Formats: sequence, structure tokens, C-alpha cells
Amino acid sequence: LTSGLESAWSKLRGEEVLTKENIAEPMRDIRRALLEADVSLPVVRRFVQAVSDQAVGVGLIRGVRPDQQLVKIVHDELVKLMGGEVSELVFTKSGPTVILLAGLQGVGKTTVCAKLANYLKKLGKSCMLVAGDVYRPAAIDQLVILGKQVDVPVYTAGTDVKPSEIAKQGLEEAKRKKVDVVIVDTAGRLQIDKTMMDELKEVKKAINPTEVLLVVDAMTGQEAAGLVTTFNLEIGITGAILTKLDGDSRGGAALSVKEVSGKPIKLVGRGERMDDLEPFYPDRMAGRVLGMGDVLSFVEKAQEVMRQEDAEELQKKIMSAKFDFNDFLKQTRAVAKMGSVSRVIGMIPGMGKVTPAQIREAEKSLQLMEAMIEAMTPEEREKPELLAESPTRRKRVAQDSGKTEQQVSQLVAQLFQMRVRMKNLMGVMEGGSIPTLSN
Ligand code: GDP
Ligand code: MG
Repeated sequence: LTSGLESAWSKLRGEEVLTKENIAEPMRDIRRALLEADVSLPVVRRFVQAVSDQAVGVGLIRGVRPDQQLVKIVHDELVKLMGGEVSELVFTKSGPTVILLAGLQGVGKTTVCAKLANYLKKLGKSCMLVAGDVYRPAAIDQLVILGKQVDVPVYTAGTDVKPSEIAKQGLEEAKRKKVDVVIVDTAGRLQIDKTMMDELKEVKKAINPTEVLLVVDAMTGQEAAGLVTTFNLEIGITGAILTKLDGDSRGGAALSVKEVSGKPIKLVGRGERMDDLEPFYPDRMAGRVLGMGDVLSFVEKAQEVMRQEDAEELQKKIMSAKFDFNDFLKQTRAVAKMGSVSRVIGMIPGMGKVTPAQIREAEKSLQLMEAMIEAMTPEEREKPELLAESPTRRKRVAQDSGKTEQQVSQLVAQLFQMRVRMKNLMGVMEGGSIPTLSN
């Protein structure tokens, strides 16, 4: 998808405004790229229409190129297409939350049971798995083995009991043991058939689940959206889990499910390991589709916070490598104002997931930096070279701020590194190449 879209954007460079004429060709490319990504035609049509409607006659923002502005409109529409916000799992206030998993054979239901339990355990919830696939003894064994791997109990009742009965017994057991979440595995078929649907309906009726999640394989492309729709009409579901996103799926499934079925993707699986399951973030997926990380949201946030003039001045300084400690302070404070450091770090392309420990670390180091910068003379702030050259000056700053000399040296080194990094980032904002996302 990425390469097709990139050529679409480049065609707009140098244009002054977005018009019906000059977006026609990029829009054709976008349309083609989406179709190639296996997004269904009606969805593509609506999408292209929505983007065109917004793009034409849009007031250009100073300092933002028209192609970038079109990228942003496409990005925002993609996010909207996928449901906008993260769609959280619902938990009951009292008694066990029951999650029923459904889906065709081989899509990853049994794997998801264990992955989901593993994921929920990390959120502090106790879990129990229920082996409701009674057609193959191997399916029960598989769940038991996976349960052991993630250290979660598995309720089994063999292959002679009806799935709805097993589910009911499992739920009773969970209530007795005061387990927070019960996850019920079920049998899939190669294709949708009445027996499977009837069985699912029966299981659903027996346990009244909080969540009914359809597991779909991302490799099935636009068919995924059709499956979600059918299951929703037949048994009523609350959302979908998209698995095998690590494969070379073309992304069409992720893009169409919500639009076609009205049901959100809640989680995605990206591999066979037990911790390869995560919430579905529409904005990250849009970024992935556009192949540029979350550069756009970063640019957007940065612009919101820094006044335009400030940004321009800063940019000039960065370009001429004059970025100093005053700017550093301004910059880090602006970043702090943007909200949590974690969000900002998360937006920088190439930076992966951030752990809470790393966030605390980052916030602490912000405070540390401020203290040291405050202990510098105005001259030193403007000319970081002075500090780079003079150990005596660094020693004084260390003493005045109550930090170690090593910490001061680190800060100075960081400023010079930041000059390089900022220069790269500004390159992105001002017509530089768009980096590809590494994940
Ligand atoms: P079920 O028939 O729906 O229960 O599917 P399983 O859970 O047994 O999974 C079928 C196969 O898909 C297994 O070999 C899993 O290891 C594999 N699988 C499941 N989820 C993923 C995923 O997110 N990525 C990859 N690459 N493989 C997966
Ligand atoms: Mg299974």
C-alpha cells in the first residue's frame, strides 16, 4: 500500500492549493492502493469521496505543503474509517466477565484464548479458560498446554458433553473460584454452516457473555469484513479480533471491518507468541497503512503547542545548527505540555512500545534537565559549545544544580544529539523524505 500512496503524494509537491483537478490523480492512486490492499469497492468509493470532499478548497496552512495536507486528510479519514478511537473490552462490575470466542477453523481462536488471558493477567485480572471445542480431543489438549504456558487454569469436560453445558459448568466453576474473566473457546468450521451457528447461539444463551468476539484471520482480506457481518447478524457479536497481522496481509481487513459490519476490531494478534496480542489502535494502523509512523500526529501536536512563529524560529535555528539550551528548555516544556511523554515518544517513528517504567524515567530526566539548565549562565545557554569545551564550567553547573558532572556532560552531549535528530525531524515537516515505519 505504501509505495502506491507515496507516488500519489509526490505528484502534489509544488502545487499551491488543493483543487479538484490536481487531486484527481493522487485520488486515483489512493483508490488503486486501497483496492490492492483488498479493501472492498464500496468502502473504497465512500472513502475516496469523503477525502475529495474535504480536500478541495481546503485552506492551506502556512508552512505545510499541499501534499502533506492531503496526507493528513487521508490519515484522518482512515482513522475514522476504522472507528476512530480504541474500542476497549467491556468488563462486568460484579461476577465474572465472560468472553466468548467464535470464528472459522484455523483462524487462531485457541491461541487467542491463551494470549488474551495472558494480556488480561497483565492488567491484574485473574482468568480461566474453558475448552468448548469438543470435536477434536487435540483441541482440548492444545488449550490445556497453552493454559500452562501462560499459567492460567483451563476448565475441561471431555468431548462427550455439549459445548453449552461445558461453558455453563466452566462459568459456575469460575464463580466459585471468584475468577475475574472466563474465556470460552469454541469449535470452528472451514466454512460458515448452520450447525456451527446453532451451537454458538446455544452457548451464548447458556452463559450470557459480556463480550462475543469473532476471531478473523487478517489474511482473508475483505472477506473478513463479510464474516464479521454475517456472524453479527446470526449470533450477535460485540467486536472482532484480527489475527495474523504479522503475515503479509494487505491490510484490507483492518480497514473494512468496522465500516462494513458496524462492529469494531478490539484486539489484534501479530504473531504466535503469547504476548503477541494488543489493542487495535486505529491511528497507528492508519500510520502503518500510510507507511510513515505517526509523523503526522507528531507534527500536528507540535504545531498546536508551539506558536507558529516560535516554530519557525526554532526551525531556522535547527537548520543552522544553532539550537541552544533555551530552545531545549522551550522544546522540552512544549513536549511536557503536549501531554504525557509517553504519547509523544510513541509518536516518534521507529520508537516502539513504551513501558510505564520508561515513562517515569523520561519524566524524571525532564526535571533533571531543567534543574541543570537553570544553573547555566545566559551565555552558556546560548552557546552550549562553551560547556562542551570547559570542564570547569560543567563542574560549576553540576555544583549549582546539585547534580553530578557526569550528568551535566550527558545533558550537553544530548543537546548536540538533539540538534541532529531535530534536523531530521524538521526535514520531514519541510519537504524532506517521509521515513518508513519500522515494525
Ligand atoms: P483455531 O482453529 O481458530 O483455534 O486456531 P489456532 O489457535 O489453533 O491457530 C491456528 C494456527 O495459527 C496455529 O498454528 C497458530 O500458531 C497460528 N496463529 C494464531 N494466531 C497467529 C498470529 O497472530 N500470527 C501467526 N503468524 N500465527 C498465528
Ligand atoms: Mg481451536
